[in-house]
Amino acid sequence: MTTDPTTVERTNWAGNVTFSAARFHGPTSVPELQRIVAGARAVRTLGSGHSFNRIADTAGDLVSVSGLPTVLELDSAAGQVKVSAGTRYGELGRFLQRQGFALHNTGSLPHISVAGASATGTHGSGVGNGNLATIVSAIEIVGPGGDLVSLSRRADGEPFNGMVLALGALGVMTSLTLEVVPTFDIRQDVFEELNATTLDEHFQEIMASGYSVSVFTDWTTPGRYQVWRKSRVDAFTGTDDFFGGIPAAVDVNPVPGMPGENATAQLGVPGPWNERLPHFRLEFTPSSGDELQAEYLLPLAQAAAARQALEEISSLIAPVLMISEFRAIAGDDLWISPSHRQDSVAFHFTFRPDPVALAPVTAAIEAALAPFGARPHWGKVFATAPEVLDTLYPRMDDFRGLLRTYDPAGKFRNELVERLIRV
Ligand SMILES: Cc1cc2nc3c(=O)[nH]c(=O)nc-3n(C[C@H](O)[C@H](O)[C@H](O)COP(=O)(O)OP(=O)(O)OC[C@H]3O[C@@H](n4cnc5c(N)ncnc54)[C@H](O)[C@@H]3O)c2cc1C
Repeated sequence: MTTDPTTVERTNWAGNVTFSAARFHGPTSVPELQRIVAGARAVRTLGSGHSFNRIADTAGDLVSVSGLPTVLELDSAAGQVKVSAGTRYGELGRFLQRQGFALHNTGSLPHISVAGASATGTHGSGVGNGNLATIVSAIEIVGPGGDLVSLSRRADGEPFNGMVLALGALGVMTSLTLEVVPTFDIRQDVFEELNATTLDEHFQEIMASGYSVSVFTDWTTPGRYQVWRKSRVDAFTGTDDFFGGIPAAVDVNPVPGMPGENATAQLGVPGPWNERLPHFRLEFTPSSGDELQAEYLLPLAQAAAARQALEEISSLIAPVLMISEFRAIAGDDLWISPSHRQDSVAFHFTFRPDPVALAPVTAAIEAALAPFGARPHWGKVFATAPEVLDTLYPRMDDFRGLLRTYDPAGKFRNELVERLIRV
């Protein structure tokens, strides 16, 4: 089969980025992908297009991996699954659940691709859960000459920590091998009307109260927070008495005004991990669909102080906001991971899609969170200066070295990568 460029989306999921590629490619085999890469001067890879900035964009050749042959190979003895790069977590979750296995965590939506999520450090929540790139043990990647290279934690050692979460700048991943665990069931309980003082006093305890915990607020009612507690059924010891919060009486949606049925089941009803860890269900549009997102990670120990700093500018945030979410992510060793070497809290913002109204608000949020060393989510809207990023990532120089070694001519670097990483 030959490439079908019409299958490749021209915009990102949110519609705020129109890709500026001169050529679009939808290869249906790895050799075809290799030929495209070998013959191109500048290449970027598109996963499922759920990033909110120009991270996937290029003026050259944009290659979608979604048409490559599906690979879903479980090695149950080794506790690993090999997947094609464009596999969406929703499909992978169903496959693993049928075989009695699970991923350690998921993001809020099952629609995104495994490669795209790993490339940006996409995360879920849980004080013991690293981001989704932390379970990648091997990748196959097409390098600048069109060569297919196998890289793994075992063979490549420490540099592998710079290779998985690499913003698409090392080449086109065709497959990833992920560590899996035996399947488990989760129950999801929602508590409303937690007050800010209690939240600040017990922030880490609340984040550790379940396997994966999210706190939501719209910042209009500073004293009222909603908590989604996702607990492993086999370790559940919770009660309905939750730091003064009131158990929700019906299924709710994280985004106010959106239907509860689009969200995964709540009210303490047990279900498999893949139907409870994401907030949104695969068969519905996640979130609102008409939005822009920003998110910043900083040390979990500073969560209460950072929340208070944000509350001081809540009258700026609230008018352009749909919903905010706070999550916990375990520290990791990945070189440019936003949770690099620190147990983190993530402050997330789902905004109305108005970039002009948004710019001063994200600037104010970045100023408020700067004293806490806030690292922006690579796949969302941010304006953090490159020289600030350098101070936030102690391994940034090593990452630059990796890019120079593997892609000396910069075939896989785009404007965003050049500007922020400064290879
Ligand atoms: C509704 C919604 C909810 C979200 N929820 C969360 C959340 O819960 N947690 C969170 O952390 N983030 C979340 N995000 C952000 C999202 O997870 C990231 O932007 C993620 O990168 C999207 O994956 P993707 O497959 O769409 O990648 P894309 O946006 O297509 O690409 C992202 C990057 O990955 C690179 N890439 C993609 N495929 C490959 C490949 N095969 N080889 C090499 N590089 C590749 C691209 O070049 C680009 O640099 C959310 C986004 C949306 C729209």
